[in-house]
Amino acid sequence: MSFPSMADADGRTLGQEEIDGVTRVLRTGMLSSVWGTEVRALEREMADRHAVSHAVAASSGTAALHLAVAAVAPDPGDEIITSPISDFGTVAPILAQNAVPVFADVDPYTGNLDPAAVAAAIGPRTRAIIAVHLFGAAADLRAVAADAGVPLIEDCAQAWLARYPDGTLVGTAGAIGCFSLQQWKHITCGDGGLAITDDPALARRMRLFADKGWPRDGGRRQHVGLGLNYRMTELAGAVARAQLAKLSGVLADRRRTATRLHAALSDVPGLHLPTDVDAHAWWLFPIVLRPPLDNRSVAARLAAAGIPARPGYLDQPLHCAPALTEAPIYGSSRYPLAVPPADRLPTYGPGLCPVAERLVDSTLLVIDWNERYTDAHVDEIAHAVRVAVTS
Ligand SMILES: *Cc1c(COP(=O)(O)O)cnc(C)c1O
Repeated sequence: MSFPSMADADGRTLGQEEIDGVTRVLRTGMLSSVWGTEVRALEREMADRHAVSHAVAASSGTAALHLAVAAVAPDPGDEIITSPISDFGTVAPILAQNAVPVFADVDPYTGNLDPAAVAAAIGPRTRAIIAVHLFGAAADLRAVAADAGVPLIEDCAQAWLARYPDGTLVGTAGAIGCFSLQQWKHITCGDGGLAITDDPALARRMRLFADKGWPRDGGRRQHVGLGLNYRMTELAGAVARAQLAKLSGVLADRRRTATRLHAALSDVPGLHLPTDVDAHAWWLFPIVLRPPLDNRSVAARLAAAGIPARPGYLDQPLHCAPALTEAPIYGSSRYPLAVPPADRLPTYGPGLCPVAERLVDSTLLVIDWNERYTDAHVDEIAHAVRVAVTS
C-alpha cells in the first residue's frame, strides 16, 4: 500500500481554490504584498482565526521567528532559552539577532521543554523563552515565563490549531506565536510564515523588521530601524489563504485517523503514545519506545514493511549541531556566544541535555502523518508496529 505524502499532490490539499488564487493574482499584475491585497487579507484571516489583533506574514517560518526575536529586542549576548529538539529555524534567528541560545532539557515522553529545566536555566541575561510545540503537542511554559517575567514566543510550526489542556489555542498564550507554511507543514504555500500577537507595539516592530525598517504609513522614504526583506509575495499569500480555509478540515482528518492508531496501539507493551489526542495537531505521530526496544531497529523493521517511519526525528539534538559546537558564526569569530560581561563560551555538545539525547539516539520513533490517510492506511501501520515491536 502506498502512503500519501506531504511531498506529493495526493498527500496535499492543493486544488482549484489555490489555482484560482494564483490566477487571480497574476491577472492583476501586482505580485508584491506592499501594494497588493492578498497578503493583507491573509493576515486578517489568520488573526481572526486565532482571535488576536495582529498577524504579520513572512517569507518562511524561520523568518517569522526572526521577526519575533527581533521584536523582543535582545541586547547582544542576552540569552534566549529554547528546545534542543526542533528545526534549526528555531535557533538561527537567536544567533542572527546576536543573542545566545540556551538549551534546556525536555520531557522524556513528549520531547517538549521541561518547565523545571527551563526554570533552572533562567539567569540575569535571559531575555525570552521560545517554546516549541513538538510534533503538534502543546509545550506549556506559560507559568515559567510569567514567573521569570520574560516574553514567551511560541514556535507553532508543527502545531497548527493545537490546544493547551485548558483549551487555549497555541500561538495565543504568549507574546508572539510563529507558524510555518513550508512544504512539509499542515498547510503550505511552498515557503511562508506568519507571526501573531495581541500587542500592537510588537506587531509594528515585526512589520518594520520584515520590510527594511520602512513604515509604509507615512509619505516619506524613511528607515526607522534595522530590517530585512522578509515579505511574503502575493502569489504565496493567495495560496496560503486557500490553505488556511482548509486548515480545520486538515486537523479534523488528522485527528480522526490518529485517534484510530492511538486506540489500535494502546494495548501494545513498550510504547508510550501521546496523551490528549483531541488537542494534539498530529504533524507526525510520535512513539516513545521503552528499552530494550530501540528506535533504529524498530524503524528499520517498519521501513522494510513500507511504513513511512524514522528514528529520532533529528540526527542529533540541536545543542550538538556543528553550527553551535564548532563552526564560526560571524566571519571567523564565535560572536555572539560570549559577549561581555560573559567571560566564557556557553556549553554545547553531548551531555548537556541527556533526556533529549536519549530520545534522538534511542527511544523516539516518528511516523509520518497525513490528512489523506484512510482507515486502511492506519490499520496497516498499526499491524506493522505491533509486529515490529513484538517480534
Ligand atoms: C519547520 C519549522 C521551522 C522553520 O520553518 P521554515 O518555514 O522551514 O523556515 C521552525 N520551527 C519548527 C518547529 C519547524 O518545524
